[in-house]
Amino acid sequence: MQRLNVVVVAAVLLASTAPASADPALSLPIACTVGRDCYIQNYVDHDSTAGSQDYHCGPRTYDTHNGTDFRLPDTATQRRGVAVLAVADGVVERTPDSMADISTQTTGRAAVRGKECGNGLVIRHADGWTSQYCHLAHTSLVVKPGQQVKSGDKLGQVGLSGDTEFPHVHVSIRKDGKIVDPFAYPDSASCGPGQSLWQPALQPQLQYRPTEVLNVGFSSQTVTMESIEQGQSNELSKDGPIIAYARTIGLRAGDVQSLKVTLPDGKTLVERTFPPSEGNKAQAFIALGKRNAAVTGRLSATYTITRDGADVLQRSFDADLN
Ligand SMILES: [Zn+2]
Repeated sequence: MQRLNVVVVAAVLLASTAPASADPALSLPIACTVGRDCYIQNYVDHDSTAGSQDYHCGPRTYDTHNGTDFRLPDTATQRRGVAVLAVADGVVERTPDSMADISTQTTGRAAVRGKECGNGLVIRHADGWTSQYCHLAHTSLVVKPGQQVKSGDKLGQVGLSGDTEFPHVHVSIRKDGKIVDPFAYPDSASCGPGQSLWQPALQPQLQYRPTEVLNVGFSSQTVTMESIEQGQSNELSKDGPIIAYARTIGLRAGDVQSLKVTLPDGKTLVERTFPPSEGNKAQAFIALGKRNAAVTGRLSATYTITRDGADVLQRSFDADLN
């Protein structure tokens, strides 16, 4: 009798935790490797109040955000063309794609009211699942309403249409019309662990990263947030200043960034520890430079983020100056 009870309990546990067979195993919605040449900027908001929390109870989202934003490192990469891909088999529904690729930093958000998704589409999958893709490039869609697509099929290209300030594809997953977070299904009303709907092979690149580096480099040109977004020129000239920069996603209040540039002989050319971040920052950038450095050879730099006294992220990069 005791043994029978154990078996029954195990069966109930299995039924409540194992994915139901109808749940999709999603493929990536973008042709890149997450964490290497594209990045998750925002997750689904799991906070039903005016605040916001991602599924990890962290700040990598904003209030009412109802999807996942897969972001390219800059608009230069977007202009070269990066495909948006179907996350599962299905049938294409709507496909408007006549909106221009213009940042709302240029047009203002009123210009895209009611058209926040920009050029986008919806795919209807089996069992009440849908996926929606937003901000695709002007006239880049290669599928039509009614068309059957397979997981991984190209739908169009990442763009800058609708309510967006940076090139990314926003992907909303719905089950029976209700938003779900593919990183933590089914509860999107509170943060905490849930079932991943992504294919198991994607788990390493889709692991949660509280903070990650978006861009680093050297330049002799002026470096600003906007110039990095446009695709910073990484040319160094012997006569120009030597500037090192880093742009980061998910900087947290109190985080301390530092940057150090080292000469070929190992001596420090320039080094700075920046003031602690005053708040959580969706993205942040720092740069430091040296005029009239008059050096040649290999320069190397180290970018470090310190949180609560411990190094939580470090990235080294180098460049030749001949
Ligand atoms: Zn979004």
